[in-house]
Amino acid sequence: MDLIISEKEEAGRAIASALGVSEVSDEVNGRRITYFRGSNIIIVPAKGHLYEPLIKKLTFAKLKDLPLTEIKWTVKRSEWVKIDKDAEARIKLIKSLGEQSDQVVVATDWDREGEAIGYNICRFGLGLSSLSDFKRMYFSALTPKYIIQAYNNLREMDETLLVKGLARSIADSIIGLNITKALTLRFKQLYPEVRQAFSLGRVQSPLLAYIVGKVSAEFKVQSSYSEREEVNVKTFLVYKDASVEVYEEIEGEQLSVINVEDVVDEVVQAIPLPNTDDMMEAVKELSPDMLMKTMEQMYLKGWLTYPRTKSRWCPREMLQDIYGELVKYVELTDSFKVDNSPSLREAGEGGKTAITLTPEGIKAYYAGEMSLVERIVAAHVLERMVKTFAPPLRRKITYVVLSDGVGEFKVKWCEDILNNPVEYVSAVVFETFHVREVPRVGDKVRVVKIKDKVKVKKIYQPYELNIVIPTDHSLVEWMTYRGLGTEATRHQFPVTLRTRNYINTLNIPTMLGSKVAEIIEKIGLSADLTAEMESRIEELGKLSELENFKSWIADITRKLVENIRKLSDEDFMFKCPKGHHLQLRQYGIRGNIIGQCSTCAKKYIIT
Ligand SMILES: [Zn+2]
Repeated sequence: MDLIISEKEEAGRAIASALGVSEVSDEVNGRRITYFRGSNIIIVPAKGHLYEPLIKKLTFAKLKDLPLTEIKWTVKRSEWVKIDKDAEARIKLIKSLGEQSDQVVVATDWDREGEAIGYNICRFGLGLSSLSDFKRMYFSALTPKYIIQAYNNLREMDETLLVKGLARSIADSIIGLNITKALTLRFKQLYPEVRQAFSLGRVQSPLLAYIVGKVSAEFKVQSSYSEREEVNVKTFLVYKDASVEVYEEIEGEQLSVINVEDVVDEVVQAIPLPNTDDMMEAVKELSPDMLMKTMEQMYLKGWLTYPRTKSRWCPREMLQDIYGELVKYVELTDSFKVDNSPSLREAGEGGKTAITLTPEGIKAYYAGEMSLVERIVAAHVLERMVKTFAPPLRRKITYVVLSDGVGEFKVKWCEDILNNPVEYVSAVVFETFHVREVPRVGDKVRVVKIKDKVKVKKIYQPYELNIVIPTDHSLVEWMTYRGLGTEATRHQFPVTLRTRNYINTLNIPTMLGSKVAEIIEKIGLSADLTAEMESRIEELGKLSELENFKSWIADITRKLVENIRKLSDEDFMFKCPKGHHLQLRQYGIRGNIIGQCSTCAKKYIIT
């Protein structure tokens, strides 16, 4: 009997249907759990993380006790210290099914998080702590074909991916939980009436500091004016009805053609299939978070390959499958070929594939089975899918060699694209190609010079309204550029900052957000520091390296906590614009925080 652990329930259902296993449900600890049971296979969905790293003794710690760096992996908590009942029941079921099985197979999503989810269930739930104690199945798409392929090719878990997943959650917990606790303790000393926690995090905090520094609103009146004179001499070569502008100094009034050369070259215009970052950049119609959620849904329906990936690679077989389906709906000339795709030659990421619609996804799109948001995503992917097969662009460039009796020079006379127009996929706008009549050797070409004298006056915008508020897209772009977070997580951080009331729904920082950003800068939790952690995590390859990494993170945490301790009370105080201290009130644990200045008798919305 094989026990297969899937991530989402829908993924479990797709695996079950591919492997011919039927759905059942059991009551465990009063919770109804859906899973899948066949004669030789049982599939249980984990539904995300069942275990999470907590910091021992943190709940009742005082500022002087921090940082605490001993990690304890426990069953996921729902709120504060309460154990998540659903996770607990699921673990109990997995344990009892584990006893009946000969082999455990982790079939969670193919990324760092999926590895960590599966590994933690194996080591804490089933007592299988060595990677050779269980198997892993890897698939890029939830279609029967790829699921069966993966099940027939069980492998050992990818240690390099796993160690990155574990390192990330260790770093997030040690740093995030300790500095959040330290900040909350400092704020609560001053404002005991505020009930919410003041969260800081490795990635969210540098992002908040960036937003606070970026948002601005300026109105300026400032007239500015410049004037200068320009004389331009333009030289044209004229042959029959056409002219070509040239930039050489030419003395005479005519030139003779001494040679004509045609050069045909090929320009690669096919593009690889997209990875997560490419999709974030391309799909502007949806917020990054909405895009990820939609792609995730499409993946679970078997329409899209796994959307959290750095890979632009695609195996030939998969390219052939999607090409074969694509040509049923899209008219492509014979020059569109699987072999044109740069995705064949991209470096693969341990076998993970680029984002592409599956044949089932292409069918669903053209059969009108997708929702509007899914259609938006699918349309973008389809565009890349067609372009990945595009033939090289063949250009014919004609050069004319001219002589004035003394010297000679070569002019690019005209250019033509030889492909069929539908094969010209690289143009964003229609380009004009000059296909002029070409002179023959011995012909004369006239030289025409035109003098053009102009006064250039420039008036700069005198009334300038400049309001900068970053969008989620620009935030994700900035994080990508600075190396913060991963392609799988970046989209979540703007949402997190809104949930914390650090920025409002329009991405404008609240007074609380601005205050926390000030503190982030003072303690040195910078984007550079986080980028350094990310690159250290990327370098990890073995589980044995985790201990060293952990003590490095503990050192960083110690410094950050020390810096929080060193700040004065004044640094944590909310003030009115005139500098008076505000009294804070919070209505309910999730209610707005209001600040009141007793000197000015004015109220301020803190969150
Ligand atoms: Zn005041």
